[in-house]
Amino acid sequence: MSKHPTIEEHLKASGVSRRNFIQLCATLMATAPVGLALTGKKSVLQVAAAIGKTRRPSVIWLHFQDCTGCTETLLRTSTPDVAQLILDVISLDYHETLMAASGAQAEAALRSAMKENAGKYVLVVEGAIPTNIDGRFYEMGGRPGIEALREAAAQSAAIIAIGSCASWGGVPSADPNPTGAVGVDSVISGKPIINLPGCPPNPYNLLAVVLEYVTMGKLPELDEYRRPKFAYERVIHDNCPRRAHFDAGRFALAFGDEGHRKGWCLYKLGCKGPVTHASCSTRHFNEIPGVWPIGIGAPCLGCTEKGVVWQLATFDTVPIHLVTPPDTYPAVVAQTGKFKAGAAALVGIAAGAIGGAALMAGKRLPEQAGVAANEEPPDELGKPGSKNA
Ligand code: SF4
Repeated sequence: MSKHPTIEEHLKASGVSRRNFIQLCATLMATAPVGLALTGKKSVLQVAAAIGKTRRPSVIWLHFQDCTGCTETLLRTSTPDVAQLILDVISLDYHETLMAASGAQAEAALRSAMKENAGKYVLVVEGAIPTNIDGRFYEMGGRPGIEALREAAAQSAAIIAIGSCASWGGVPSADPNPTGAVGVDSVISGKPIINLPGCPPNPYNLLAVVLEYVTMGKLPELDEYRRPKFAYERVIHDNCPRRAHFDAGRFALAFGDEGHRKGWCLYKLGCKGPVTHASCSTRHFNEIPGVWPIGIGAPCLGCTEKGVVWQLATFDTVPIHLVTPPDTYPAVVAQTGKFKAGAAALVGIAAGAIGGAALMAGKRLPEQAGVAANEEPPDELGKPGSKNA
């Protein structure tokens, strides 16, 4: 095998089955439009062929002020096979948590990886960069971490800031931010930088960006915060499985209450899903459907949004900016918790007027009969002139 094998060659030499590789490619196609970007190839076999003949991308991974949660999310898949497969597809040439070397040996490994892959490696940065007292809140190899970052960034092909800390400061930057923690793009310029915020982010988003970049030689389309649109274009609220409860005005009001036990909307418990751009509601964690915060009954903290998580209290509600179906629905009567038949008819007419929503209303009406008496009317949500912009 050559010193720089293709992904296919490496997988073959490592004994990875083709079936597992095809499964990984299928997951990537579902995660990101990486398949579509690969010169228009649309079948999973075509995508696997295009990825397979690419050389394993060299990745250098540096840690700064972080909890290592982003690394954990890469490794803690439900089956060890998947984590191993990810590590087979990329060439992780330097990673302080995973490598055996330490001290001078680790420094030598970093320099060697940078020299051997100069101009070609993807630099992944985990953690916020401390800037106060000349960056000396974090030292690496005897020099301020920020200097190590600048050196590694200078020779990289592109930089991926993984996690909220590397993207914009995250937890370490919470008020009063004693270390002057900032994201990578506050201290590095002149290189392509992609932010993958999340606490933690989904590892498939990282893999999709790396493979698209090395296979196509271009970055995926980014939004104004340098986040790839394929993963961050929509708010969680758009695809949340509890959305029907939000629309119908069914809210959990306390942890463990009837609404919480029944899987109702968590907005009134502080869910930030309506303002949080991320793919968590469609791409879950640990390969297990339903394993993501809202899926297990915890309100979304808004970890992918700068200025939301660690700035707002977890129980604070966020303003709803978009007019939502509750505007067109009559309020649930708190005393009885039931719709009247006449009101139900009006619901259908009003919802139909906004294009197809009548069908949704028809589906929901049978469920309305079970609305609990502890429920508040939804009119404080979604009404122009109240919390709505
Ligand atoms: Fe889901 Fe939160 Fe939106 Fe409710 S407010 S539908 S729990 S994202």
